[in-house]
Order: sequence, then structure tokens, then C-alpha cells
Amino acid sequence: MPLQQACRLEVERGFGDLLGRQETFSRFLARSLQEPPSGLTPAARRSLQSLAEAYARYGEEGLGRRQQLVRQLRPTLHQLRVDLRPPEPVAPPRLRLADPAAPGSASPPAAAMALLPTTPLGEVRGIGPRTATRLAGLGLLLVGDLVRHYPRDYLDYANLVRISALEPGRTATLVATVHRSHAFPSPRNPNLAILELHLQDVTGRLRVSRFFAGRRFTAPGWLKSQQRQFAPGATVAVSGLVKESPWGPAFNDPLLEVLEGPGAPVRSEAIGRLVPVYALTEGLSADTLRRSLQGVLPALERWSDPLPAQLRQRLALLPLAKALKGIHQPSDRTELQASRRRLVFDEFLLLQLGLAQRRWRLRQRPAQPLEPLPGGGDLVARLRTILPFPLTGAQERVLAEIRRDLARPQPMARLLQGDVGSGKTVVALAALLCAIEAGCQGALMAPTEVLAEQHLAKLAHWLPQLHVSCALLTGSTPAKRRRDLLQDLINGQLQILIGTHALLEDPVQFARLGLVVVDEQHRFGVRQRNRLLAKGLQPHLLTMTATPIPRTLALSIHGDLDVSQIDELPPGRTPIRTRLLRAGERQEAWDLVREQVALGQRAYVVLPLVEESEKLDLRSAVEVHRHLVEEVFPDLAVGLLHGRLSSEAKQAAIGAFARGESQVLVSTTVVEVGVDVPEASVMVIEHAERFGLAQLHQLRGRVGRGAAASHCLLLHGGNNAQARQRLEVLAGSTDGFEIAEMDLRLRGPGQVLGTRQSGLPDLALASLTDDADLLELARTEAQELVASDPSLESYLGLHQALLDQRQRQLEAARLN
Ligand code: ADP
Ligand code: MG
Repeated sequence: MPLQQACRLEVERGFGDLLGRQETFSRFLARSLQEPPSGLTPAARRSLQSLAEAYARYGEEGLGRRQQLVRQLRPTLHQLRVDLRPPEPVAPPRLRLADPAAPGSASPPAAAMALLPTTPLGEVRGIGPRTATRLAGLGLLLVGDLVRHYPRDYLDYANLVRISALEPGRTATLVATVHRSHAFPSPRNPNLAILELHLQDVTGRLRVSRFFAGRRFTAPGWLKSQQRQFAPGATVAVSGLVKESPWGPAFNDPLLEVLEGPGAPVRSEAIGRLVPVYALTEGLSADTLRRSLQGVLPALERWSDPLPAQLRQRLALLPLAKALKGIHQPSDRTELQASRRRLVFDEFLLLQLGLAQRRWRLRQRPAQPLEPLPGGGDLVARLRTILPFPLTGAQERVLAEIRRDLARPQPMARLLQGDVGSGKTVVALAALLCAIEAGCQGALMAPTEVLAEQHLAKLAHWLPQLHVSCALLTGSTPAKRRRDLLQDLINGQLQILIGTHALLEDPVQFARLGLVVVDEQHRFGVRQRNRLLAKGLQPHLLTMTATPIPRTLALSIHGDLDVSQIDELPPGRTPIRTRLLRAGERQEAWDLVREQVALGQRAYVVLPLVEESEKLDLRSAVEVHRHLVEEVFPDLAVGLLHGRLSSEAKQAAIGAFARGESQVLVSTTVVEVGVDVPEASVMVIEHAERFGLAQLHQLRGRVGRGAAASHCLLLHGGNNAQARQRLEVLAGSTDGFEIAEMDLRLRGPGQVLGTRQSGLPDLALASLTDDADLLELARTEAQELVASDPSLESYLGLHQALLDQRQRQLEAARLN
């Protein structure tokens, strides 16, 4: 509409025949009006022509005539625009769907109504012994199992379109009139019949072919009957996947149904609907499964809904029977979504109820309040005076939260999350000192010996000045030393015990255990955590992790814990520069290592564990070590660290690296957690695509601990675009939470937590990435329910559902 704009300007400038960039206002208009757009009526064309002539003389006219001309033109232009507007797109067709339960079975058979969730499928009318066996193959034994066998996906035949709007790659349904039809045997295959229909609707025409394999379809009688059925003028509904063809979008062997008339309902259970797609097994067709479900769904109306009606109404959740029917036979997207919402809520609610109860039970047990004994000396205050730095604000806040918990007569159960290098160890140490002040003992548990030894080294730096005793217990502690240690522990002389999961073993007994700190708790399973708590005593528990896990995951797994967060790094850290390198660009990495070593810094080279196989792992680390020693850095000292080394050898390798006796350390992921060498400024990670993002972030955290600018180089295969994309997340972010969130999206919760983590909830429908809001909602409700009625006595349905779930989990655990 440049003409309208020109008019506006001309009016604003007082009709002075404005000089534009190339020509005057009047010349521009005269020229434009002489070239009218196509598609105008002859009358409109004539009026524009006369206007063009008038504008050619505009320059010579006086002000009044000029005003008149412009005023005249503007409504004309507006009308032109209205006339030329493209026609409204044709609305999609309408389709009436027959109620699937309607034909034949006006009221469901009495037998179906008596079905209970616990009725064996073999006893359901309409499910024969063969089908029952096949369903059992999918783990579906009872009616309750079958209705919870949710569709894996849906074919969207509810996408109703006109012929002109068909889109390749999507499923669609259209309603059209038969213009011509032809049924004939394939000229190339005598066993194949082809039905070819020429269809049309108000927007266009389309050729549709269906193929029928089998000799009986090529019989003249059958072909004739088809042609009769799809006679010209008949209305048909067509559903299927649209593909690209040389003649435009076309259906790929679609479903067809002749309708009795343009407004008549379709009877098909697929056409026009969202068709559920199920996980199947051999010999069990989708139709059989859908039919079996049809036999049991009517019975659901009689089942009781475990959710209290009042809660259901408040949260606008569908009744259970409706939701189960809606997930299997949705009439549209809205119903599907509402059904899914209810079922997802149930899954989260059960999960959160279990956690809320566990938390409640834990709080019921008495614990020793850890308050300083009179005359015990303020160890935490003295620690502050010997630390070379003040605690950060975040460290202070978290420590205060912990101390408040410790002073209570109920056991603390707290998770401390803090990014790599955020200074969790000092906080843990202060917490342990609180226990000592109160006349109790403390334990610090680490996932690896290397880390446990580092903790000992660090604590041994401060504890003697505070006159606190401390020792290390691992799997490789010699028997004699071990006996002495256990003795000191039980008579209370030893105040802090540091160790690996050896601490969980039975002979380990404390005189007065007050606090257990579990470092890098993600490396321990939930079961191990519980085992510790079940050691007959009720110590306070502080678990720590540097692998922040997304909130949804944290709530699902550690929903029984309180969470503290250190969200601030100690000052003076320089950010780590992260770069991706192809395997072929490895030389660049070695150049950087050499450069940094020349500056007095050190470098890690990390290799992945190959399929958890220690042997392969060993070979690759050893091989790379040899290659570096012999060919790349013959002039440097290159250390080697891997899981197969003895504890002393490991300690020696780390010690040499920490002291600078070696400048390069080749390692497996043993260095992942906790190892702290401030002079290390380069981290080279081989086969980076094999690691999870969170793990890479952890590894990266091994550098950047000193003041020097640090580098992380991710070497990758380079062929896999997806792997590359994943690694780029890491290059672009240093925020552990953001990275964890991406990791969850890209790999799913099972991978993110690793196989070691038991306790991952079994969620059939709910997604920890997409249903975060429902999870929060369920958590709030669960906490309120348990607070008002801890054992859920007045919520029988929920109580039973929880028992059932626990039973299932026990059975699953037994099978594993
Ligand atoms: P992580 O949280 O990864 O376990 P650490 O506890 O190992 O981190 O701390 C990393 C480094 O930061 C250590 O060398 C530690 O001494 C140092 N540090 C901890 N707190 C502070 C602080 N408030 N100011 C300066 N440095 C600190
Ligand atoms: Mg740590």
C-alpha cells in the first residue's frame, strides 16, 4: 500500500507535490495508477485510468483541486484493497462420529459390568484363551493391567482437512464426493486388486488408490461390488498418512468409508478419530487389543475412584473412569489432554504420598539435638579463624539452615546441592564440628577411595589445630589398622570417621554417632542411603551433590529430603573456556597443554569408561598414557590414574600431580568427583560424546579451581550432529542446573541418574520434563494429605493404591 502512504505524506506536507527519492508525488501516482493490478473489473479499471490522467496534471492544479483529488483517491484505494483480498479459506469439513459402543450393544453386557480390576483377563467375555496368553506376554494378566496399558501414541485421524490443504507427512481425514471410480486387477500382479477413486470437494480434486492383496479380490464379482459401492456421487470419508507424490500430496493406501449421505456419521473406529497405537507383541494385533479393551472399559464406571471427589473438583480433574476411557478412546485432543492430566496427576500423587509418608515417619523418630555442650568450646568459631578465607554468603546461609536442623530433636534429612567448586566441603566440616561440639561423633562418606583420601587430607589440614581426631576406613584398610579403628570408634575416642561405603558394613559401630555426611550422594543409591539410616541409630543426615539434578527429578527421588542450595561460587574464579575439537584436531589440544605447562600449570587427559568394562577402560587409558609419554610429551612427566590401580598407586599418582612432580595426568573418570588441584588449568576429554552432560560438567569442574584462566577441550568423533549439539550446550553454559535440565531433556531420567540409582519412580505416562507443574501440584496435595492424616486412614482409595504400588515395587525388586 505504498500509494496510501504517499497520500498520507502529501496531506501532512500541505499538498506541495512532495518530491520523493526518485520522482514527485503526482508523477508516482500517475504512473502507478496506469499499471493497475490484474483481477479488476473493467469499471474499476476505467475509474483508475481517469484518476491517472487527472494526477498527470496535479502539478499544475491549485490547492483546492489537489485536496479534492487526494480525497477522491483514498476511498478508491481502500475499495481496491477489499476487492483484491484473497478469498477466505474454506472451513475444514465436518464429520459426525458414531458412538463406538452404540451399534449392537445398546447396554453393555451384564458380564462386563461385573469386572473388577483384579479379574483375570481370561475370564473376560470376548477375550479367548489365545488372546489371554498373548496379553500375558505383555505382562497384562488382570483387567486392571489392561486398562493401564496406555497407548504409546495416537494416529491423528481427527485432523479434518479439505483436499487443497493436505500436507505431506501428516495424517489427515477428508470428506469428498466420488467423481469417478475404477476397480481392476493389477496389470502386473494377478493377485492384486486396485481400487482407484477420483474424489472432489469444494477446493479441488484428488486421486486415491487402495490395494487389495489376495486372489479373491481380483474376482470380477468383487471388483464390481466395489465399483457399485463407490459409485459416482457417493460421499466418502478418507483417513490416512499423506505423502508427497509427483502430482502433489496423496494418501498412502488410506482407510475408506462410504457415508450414507454428506451429513451421515462414520461407523469406522478409526476414520476421523485419534486412533491409539499400542505396544504390541507377536500374534497380538492392534485390533485385538482395541477389542479387548472395548470389552472391559464399560465396567470402569462401577469402580471406585481413589481420589476424594472434593479434591478432584477443586483441581478440575476428570473422574478415573472417564480418564481411562478418554486415554484409550479419545474423541478429540481436548478429551485426550484432560484424561492424560488426571492419570499423570495420579502417578505423581502416589509417588509424592509415598515420599511424604517416609518423611513423616522419619520425623517421628527421636534424634539427639546437636547443641554445644557447656564448656565444649566453639569449634565452628575456631574453624573460621583458621580458614584462609571467609565463607561466602551462600555457605553461611546453608550452614545456618543445617545448624537449625541439628538443634532439633528430630533427625535432619537434608540434601545440599552446590555446583562443582562451590565449597561444600567446608560446610560439611563445620556441620561435623557441630556434632563434635555436642559430644557426638561424625561420619563422612565418599563414593570412591580417591575422594575419601582427599577428604582426609583436607580435613587433616584443619582438625589437628582444633584437637579433633579423624581417621580413614576404606576397603583397603589393613586388617590390624581396621581393628584398632573400630575399637576407637566404639569407645568414642575417634571423633570423625571418613570412608567409602565400607562405612555401611556391619562391624562398624559408633559410640555416639550424631551426623552422617554423604558426599557426592548421586553416586550412592537411595537404598544405600536408607541402609545407613537403618543402622539402628538415628543420626542426622546431610547428603551433598555437585551434580545438580533438575527440580522435577530431585522432587521425585529426594522428595523426602529438605534441600539447601549453594548458588554462589567463592570469589576470584576465572571462567573456564570450553571448546569442541574434532578427534583430528587433537594436536591443538596437545599444543595447548604444552603452552600451559610452560606457564607452570598442569593438565588432565580423561578417557571414558568403555561400556563399564574395566578391561577396555584399562587398555585405553594405558595406551593413551604410553602414546603421550613416548611420542607427544617425552620431555614431561605424565602420570596415570585408573580404577585398577591399588589404592597406594592411585594416591601416589594424584599426589605427584598435586605436588607438580607430574604435569600431565591421564585418567579415567576416577577424577570426576572432588579431586582438587588448583594448578590444573587444562582438561582434555577424549570421546566426549560418550559422557553425559552432567558428568562432563563435573569433569570440567576439576579445572578452574585456581586463579589462572582455564580451558576445557572436548574431543569428539565429529560425525554425529546430535552428539555435537549436546556438547555445544556445555560450551555455551557453565550453570550446572541449566546443563542438568538439558541433559534430562536430551537423555531422559534413567540415563541422567545412571544405573546405580535405584529409586527412580516408575512413571507410565508422566514425563519429568514436560509435566513439572502437575508434579508440583501433586506434591503440595500429598503433603497436605499426609499432614492431616499421616496414614491416610480416611482416604481408603489412596491408601489401597499406595499399598498396591508398594507391592508392585517389591515384586519388581525381587525380579531384578
Ligand atoms: P565442592 O563444592 O566442589 O566440593 P570444595 O569444597 O572442594 O568444592 O571447594 C573448592 C575449593 O574452594 C577448595 O579449594 C576450597 O578450599 C575453596 N573454597 C571453599 N570455600 C571458599 C570460600 N568461601 N572462599 C574461597 N575459597 C573457598
Ligand atoms: Mg566436593
